[in-house]
Amino acid sequence: MPLAGGQSLMPTLIARAIAPGAIVDLNRIQDFPDVELEPGRLRTGALVRMQQVIDHPDIAQNLPLLHQAVSHIGHRAIRNRGTLVGSLCQLDPWAEVPLVACALEASLLITGPSGPRQARFSEFAAAPNRPLLAPGELVVAADWPLWRPEHGAGFSEVARRPNDPALACAAALILLDENRHIQRVVLAIGGVCPLPIRCHQLEALLVGKSADDLRAITTDMIEADLSGHVIRDDALADAAYRRHLAPIVAARAVEQAVSRAR
Ligand SMILES: Cc1cc2nc3c(=O)[nH]c(=O)nc-3n(C[C@H](O)[C@H](O)[C@H](O)COP(=O)(O)OP(=O)(O)OC[C@H]3O[C@@H](n4cnc5c(N)ncnc54)[C@H](O)[C@@H]3O)c2cc1C
Repeated sequence: MPLAGGQSLMPTLIARAIAPGAIVDLNRIQDFPDVELEPGRLRTGALVRMQQVIDHPDIAQNLPLLHQAVSHIGHRAIRNRGTLVGSLCQLDPWAEVPLVACALEASLLITGPSGPRQARFSEFAAAPNRPLLAPGELVVAADWPLWRPEHGAGFSEVARRPNDPALACAAALILLDENRHIQRVVLAIGGVCPLPIRCHQLEALLVGKSADDLRAITTDMIEADLSGHVIRDDALADAAYRRHLAPIVAARAVEQAVSRAR
């Protein structure tokens, strides 16, 4: 198993939950890309740490959603070591980075015994904690599509304590037209289902609406997007509470994105 920041792998090993035959430390490999900004996309290599995202001026400016989301992860010691790609491979249901990958439709550059390939996050995220990787495959980098500079990004999370695992979180991206009507919107919800989900039906309801006259997002409006998905039910929160939180975090993320769109 590859070891990147070790912030999930080490606790799992200590708990004796897994016993891999070999662990390959990626940290001395020099060939991974760093943070690379190109027209239309940002590439982050396999060893780009979460804290780098917070400290990097290009990311704050060009990919504010990722910048906002990462600041909710753990605490600084975790972010100093933990990598974006490690979080995408770990695929925890509550994790912020997979939620952003779902919203932005990020893609992954993968290499392995059969050569290099690229996978969309939606294909890669096969099941919680189970990315679609063949034996011996390694993720080299993640590509994050960029939205036009005038877009607004919003992120909202409810957790028991700040920086605890999210009970529910939402990510929104919005572009307004010259009359301040919603031209393009993306909304994704994390923590509520085993994997982050895109709210395509709610997005369709929001397109064309005036940003100055947005109705509240109600439970009914989000129900269609949640239907057919398992709602997480565990010691931190039951399914009814997570279902209750979904429209709340969605509304906050949309409101924030609208207020930041130019
Ligand atoms: C106290 C604490 C608080 C935390 N809070 C949060 C939180 O609020 N939100 C959150 O999302 N996470 C949280 N985490 C989890 C953690 O931030 C991430 O899951 C972690 O940082 C993943 O990245 P890593 O680089 O540490 O990966 P590692 O732990 O090194 O690896 C994780 C998994 O990914 C695989 N892997 C890593 N890199 C690659 C690669 N390039 N190719 C293929 N497979 C790879 C590993 O083999 C392993 O299975 C917390 C962890 C701790 C200990």
